Amino acid sequence: MTGRTRPFPWPVLLDRLSAQYRTGDWRRPYLRDHAEDPFQVLIGTILSQRTRDANTDVASAELFARFPDARSLVRADPAQLVPIIRRVGFYRTKSRVIRACAQAVLDRYGGSVPRTYEELVALPGVGPKTANCVLVFGYGIPAIPVDTHVHRIANRLGVVRTRTPEETEARLRAVVPERYWIPVNPLLVQHGQNLCRPRGPLCGRCPIAELCATGRALSSGRSPPRPDDAPSGSPAGRGARRGSPAGRQRGTPRRTGTSARRPASRTGRRPPRRPPAGSR
Ligand code: SF4
Repeated sequence: MTGRTRPFPWPVLLDRLSAQYRTGDWRRPYLRDHAEDPFQVLIGTILSQRTRDANTDVASAELFARFPDARSLVRADPAQLVPIIRRVGFYRTKSRVIRACAQAVLDRYGGSVPRTYEELVALPGVGPKTANCVLVFGYGIPAIPVDTHVHRIANRLGVVRTRTPEETEARLRAVVPERYWIPVNPLLVQHGQNLCRPRGPLCGRCPIAELCATGRALSSGRSPPRPDDAPSGSPAGRGARRGSPAGRQRGTPRRTGTSARRPASRTGRRPPRRPPAGSR
């Protein structure tokens, strides 16, 4: 035994999810229909924090109809903004943050949203997920935005064993070849909104069940992997899973009868690529 393992089949997983959600009446992630203008991706992603996509959709459509760019947004009276974004929650804080962010974009970059991770996370209200969303959806630069869906599904798949989205992003950047980074977020988010739900994932209808550690465990009557098991594809992971006692990780489904079945590229050296059709 050499300790070498086959790499995780990312292209198969991404192709299957892309085919699954290409047609049909599936829920669609907010950014799937709003991936045109980097400024609107930036502000829309800040608005989307801790709220439902449907609320972000309505609020951002109205906001950008009246204030489509940094220059117009900094001139907006806060009293004008509050009624528009009230539905996204935390609206007083968010109205302050989006104006501060627009002001910084205007002051530091003349109104053009920067194209590097480091510049983006230095803007008010911008964390790793928002910065990576701007890179992927605004500019087509490889990155992996990690929200709760991506974090949960990556752990259910068994490709990472992590406790926070930040850890998950770091691990995914290490284990996913860079040429597949762009479609990871849109496809996993859509999968999380539809079949791989936070509670009660529909593993029996899942097109990637046989690639998934949780799906395989459930279909063979075993318990899903635990957080301290090593990830799929590592020699330790195979042994650890075989020998591990039963347990559940946070975000993995209960076994039920029905469900059983920072780095160089942050600066964008590669030519821009857009998310695939049918993705977020
Ligand atoms: S098999 Fe189940 S847990 Fe795994 S990705 Fe599919 S729906 Fe999610």
